[in-house]
Amino acid sequence: MTLDTPLDCKHKKQYEFNVRDEVAEKCKLGLHAMNGGEGPNSYAQNSTYQRGVVDAAKTIMEEEIAMKLDVKHHSSTHKMPFRIADFGCSTGHNSFPAMQMITEAVEKKFHTEGLASRVPDFQVFFNDQLVNDFNTIFHSLPPERNYHAAGVPGSFYSRLLPNASLDFAYSSCALNWLSRAPAAVADHTSSAWNEGKVHYTGARHEVFEAYANHYANDIQSFLEARAQELVSGGLMALLVPAVPSFKISNTSYTTPTEMDLIGSCLVDMTKRGRISKEKIDSFNFPLYFTIPRELQAIIERNPSFSMERMEILNNQGKLTLTSAHARATYLRAVFEGLLVNHFGGEIMDELFDRYTKKLAASSLFLDPNNEKSIIIFVLLKRKAE
Ligand code: SAH
Repeated sequence: MTLDTPLDCKHKKQYEFNVRDEVAEKCKLGLHAMNGGEGPNSYAQNSTYQRGVVDAAKTIMEEEIAMKLDVKHHSSTHKMPFRIADFGCSTGHNSFPAMQMITEAVEKKFHTEGLASRVPDFQVFFNDQLVNDFNTIFHSLPPERNYHAAGVPGSFYSRLLPNASLDFAYSSCALNWLSRAPAAVADHTSSAWNEGKVHYTGARHEVFEAYANHYANDIQSFLEARAQELVSGGLMALLVPAVPSFKISNTSYTTPTEMDLIGSCLVDMTKRGRISKEKIDSFNFPLYFTIPRELQAIIERNPSFSMERMEILNNQGKLTLTSAHARATYLRAVFEGLLVNHFGGEIMDELFDRYTKKLAASSLFLDPNNEKSIIIFVLLKRKAE
């Protein structure tokens, strides 16, 4: 049923019921996605930082494909398409240039190996959460693309594709999202209860540990699922949002972040009776920013992959987001779905208004020198069974 069809009363009620039901279901599952469409608050219009990551990775990815991809094996074993998946592609705008770059680099490798006549068809699987705006992806697919496109909805922390069906896995700016916030941090009976806070920064060490453990388990699940999906010798390129080091004081993890600033706006709104305290105490951002050493240790525990390359990417993206408004819209495009699920849509304008004002008043957040986030580039190869 489309919304521009006038609804009679009975159907309207049913429709509203279905929509309410759907939102309730999503809340239960903890599902959310980046803002869809192409409007002013959309992810598509507010992700130049993530686009910068793709651009910064281009040369390394091309080098690695030229050196490490075994195209002889692909062309000798089957006449199958070369299959690539982008895990956590959002509405596709940053995924398209990445997929173009990968397919062109693979094609070039076939040429340099003297296999020009065996260049396969390409198939790209665009993956994201069930509630992602897949329509925008398919509406905006580049007409001149050199691949066939398919959507794969579902969590990348579970199996999504058939056994040994994937030649190249890719994921950019998505593996900082946990499958969900750790249950213990919202449980008032747990020592890791994160009362009055919404993230692990500035929180007690137990909270940080709950997040770190959850992250390690999630990354293991991701690797196990991809190990089954990738063919032997298949490559996986991961661009993982991270921080250079953890600053842990005796009791807490201390660098303030934009998530803390949203948290402080939510606390202000509680003081004004706009949100209940329980709502804040039961909300935590399902996000974790690893450090290179930690990520390396998690990956090395997985027996199915060899680590081919790992380095910090030379990307400069956020330096361009120095106005409070641009920074707030960027965060809104990313977090609004998640926040609406928990707090409801009515408070969003007020929340982001408060957030913009706090950002504008803070010298800390808008100074590019305080921008400490990094992107870790990792290239893994699926070992032979
Ligand atoms: N790769 C894109 C989008 C990054 S935003 C780019 O570089 O611009 C992170 C994306 O990961 C979001 O679209 C979010 O919905 C998706 N995501 C987060 N957790 C996920 C999960 N468990 N399974 C699939 N997608 C997920």
